[in-house]
Amino acid sequence: MDKIIVNDIEMTIHKKRIKHVYIRIKPPMGEVHISAPQCMSLRQIKQFAESKILWILTHRERCVKTSQKAQRMYCSGECIPFQGKTLKLEVIDSQKKRIEVSQGEIKMYIHENSTVEQKKKLLDDWYRKMMMLEVPALVEKWQRIIGVRASGVSIKNMKTRWGSCNVKTGKVWLNLRLMQKAPQAMEYVVVHELVHLLEKSHNYVFKGYMDQFLPRWRIVRKDLNTE
Ligand SMILES: [Zn+2]
Repeated sequence: MDKIIVNDIEMTIHKKRIKHVYIRIKPPMGEVHISAPQCMSLRQIKQFAESKILWILTHRERCVKTSQKAQRMYCSGECIPFQGKTLKLEVIDSQKKRIEVSQGEIKMYIHENSTVEQKKKLLDDWYRKMMMLEVPALVEKWQRIIGVRASGVSIKNMKTRWGSCNVKTGKVWLNLRLMQKAPQAMEYVVVHELVHLLEKSHNYVFKGYMDQFLPRWRIVRKDLNTE
């Protein structure tokens, strides 16, 4: 098997009886594998890889991130996402549980025999506390701008959506994981759910309101859903 290097990334070449060249990124480390037709020269493959370098970089990063997320064990040295940044985790043995953040580091004080679930719960409780410091003012600001009032705003862990709104009761839910994302992502979701109090479905009226209140909403949404 041949190898090429593009942008400091080693890529493994597999010559096969195929017509087209294609690239595969393998988890968990984001290894790059290129399958190419027998007749294609290494120089041609390299040129192809160079032309696709942006795609490769994006997918490699996503692949590594996804694998890390799946394997989060809450050990010292791991990266913890917070407001669009990553904090380096330090786990410190302590009888009293708490979380402290300073200068790009997150310190988790917890008993050394704690399980992964107990550590996750401590972190989620902390995310929730941090989110509760942000949400009321954000909701208040946007309710004023949009001219609606939610009957209540709650935070919960949701698997598949960033937020939801019950237009009948006026109740809004925000995903706890928004605290991991950049602040503009949370703002976008708040605006989105509040606009539902004006328009139930995602039709042109809804989009018109979004354009009016948050002109950059499409970009923020795209970032939120590709991260
Ligand atoms: Zn919606």
